[in-house]
Amino acid sequence: MERRDRLVQEYRHDPYFLRQKYHEPSICRECGVVFQDGIFEWLRNPPTDAQAITCPACLRIQEDYEGGFVVLEGEYLSQHWEDIRNLIENTEDREQRQRPLERILEWRTQEDGSVVIRTTYEHLARRIAEAVQRACKGELDLRYPGEEKYVRAHWRRDT
Ligand SMILES: [Zn+2]
Repeated sequence: MERRDRLVQEYRHDPYFLRQKYHEPSICRECGVVFQDGIFEWLRNPPTDAQAITCPACLRIQEDYEGGFVVLEGEYLSQHWEDIRNLIENTEDREQRQRPLERILEWRTQEDGSVVIRTTYEHLARRIAEAVQRACKGELDLRYPGEEKYVRAHWRRDT
């Protein structure tokens, strides 16, 4: 019950949540997430009377509207890229199972070798950055600019 309250709290200020008035139950036509009892969840057997919607995460993906931004860089990154990539994928997988709207919006390797990961919400960006730092040490800088929930994470390790 506590988890449910927290999730409702978190999305209450999301512009992508606010501008929709979801019928309950609803099901996302893109990803299949179900909105019911005030929360989004993955259900093995979605309700048959669900109305088709596009969920806030899929809307953010369509409109390329990020909630978090992670930059990873340094020599260590290219040397351990396979492991780090697996770690990021596992982190997304785990978070998304519990919080269905947390998704990676874009992965991009930049010309200088640094990697940018953009996420639908700030929570996943923070989790990814923290997971990389926990596993690989290095330096992590988390910034929350502005009023809206948004994080910019910068991780670096050179040797
Ligand atoms: Zn969706």
